[in-house]
Amino acid sequence: MRRVLIYDTMSREARVFAPIAPPRVGLYVCGLTPYAPAHVGHGRTFVVFDVVVRALRRWGYRVFYVQNVTNLDDKLIARAAEEDDDPLQLAERNFTAFRRSMTELGVTSVDYYPFATDYVPEILLQVRALVDRGYAYVADDGSVYFEVAKFPAYGRLSGQKLSQLQPGARVEVDARKRAPEDFVIWKAAVPGEPSWESPWGPGRPGWHIEDTAMTGRLLGARYDLHGAGADLIFPHHESEIALSESATGEAPMVNYWIHVAFVIFQGEKMSKSIGNVLDLQAAIDGVGPGALRFYYLNAHYRSPLDLLPDRSLAEAKEAYDRLAQPAHRIEQILARDGAERSGDPIPSEFAAASDELIDRLDDAMADDFNSREAITLLFGWTRRLGELLEGLDHLSGEGLTALAEPYRWAQEVLGLFGERAPADARDLERVVPVLLAARARARARGDYAEADRIREELGTAGIRLEDGTAGTRWSYAEPH
Ligand SMILES: [Zn+2]
Repeated sequence: MRRVLIYDTMSREARVFAPIAPPRVGLYVCGLTPYAPAHVGHGRTFVVFDVVVRALRRWGYRVFYVQNVTNLDDKLIARAAEEDDDPLQLAERNFTAFRRSMTELGVTSVDYYPFATDYVPEILLQVRALVDRGYAYVADDGSVYFEVAKFPAYGRLSGQKLSQLQPGARVEVDARKRAPEDFVIWKAAVPGEPSWESPWGPGRPGWHIEDTAMTGRLLGARYDLHGAGADLIFPHHESEIALSESATGEAPMVNYWIHVAFVIFQGEKMSKSIGNVLDLQAAIDGVGPGALRFYYLNAHYRSPLDLLPDRSLAEAKEAYDRLAQPAHRIEQILARDGAERSGDPIPSEFAAASDELIDRLDDAMADDFNSREAITLLFGWTRRLGELLEGLDHLSGEGLTALAEPYRWAQEVLGLFGERAPADARDLERVVPVLLAARARARARGDYAEADRIREELGTAGIRLEDGTAGTRWSYAEPH
């Protein structure tokens, strides 16, 4: 199997990837807290992990990818109260919209999206284990806290010493705690909020323990990869390690920690809590899913991405369209004539170069998922094909397929070029009238359901119909 280097946040170096039980790989990524729609910063994180999984699967790893949904937490409860809504239903709605955006973006690699509220029994078992083992204590109101001082390795992932952790915005001061850095793992119920019965009275899970209860159940006490945006290193992931390793007695919980850098917008990390967000779906609608993926992947995932309004995405779209042009043209010809079409062979140096390029693309990705390097290589290919571009129509199917291989690699691993190639107007002029005639016949015999179905299917292909006295007119707009 290919030698893969992964930069691990814990050891602060790139290490050769060695799964616990190859070829199986367990991956857990902290997902959305759906108290508001997803923004462009979220999109980056999830596209990056989609590409990580696509690459590992290409190289023969059998990845089980779990991405959780924190469908109940303080922010959800607060937002639902503001909007006079139910927090669980608010979460459900935003999550459904998020899934639609992910599908449009081509994020297809997640195997399972567990909801926190479906894991309350596992959470209670873990709280009990932590209390029994002396790592957690029960406060007067029935809340349960993890005692950070009992876990000396706390701070190793983020590089902080316990003595340096100051109570502040993220470490709240609370009279029920023995020490300011202790964190709640079971919150005593507040009237009007969702709650569950527990040995310590009614309550609901704290944030960090949702993750470790799920991973314990789904991936085991020790697993291969844990990822998320870099903002979750502290206190979230630090706390996950403390909870899991204390509850199970097994360490390390995770062998490789992968963290994706921020999207910077208006001078700061894009964040719902700061309010400097660009809606993810709006960005997809604006430039198309391919261009947005290209924007994300044309930077190394550990480098911050500075998003300049009205500029970055427009430039990405322009560059992406340039990169994709030969890919779309070749696939168009192959779709029209088939891979067996006859024509001129390609110059032999192109066939060899195509194979060699695929190797280099895999090498780039195996070096800590360097998608930026891969895109640079693909630009080189597009430039090189420039001299053949005018003559593509004369080439054989075999030759065209060889030229398409690097782009097909990018489709498989980076999820690029998957959108429908812009239709060739001449093809449409041949095909659409045939369908319009079929629709007219259906209407003539009174089969309006069939007529509507044809209209709808043409609509999804970007073809709009307008019925008038002189017959039906049609127009075409490229779907995104
Ligand atoms: Zn998490």
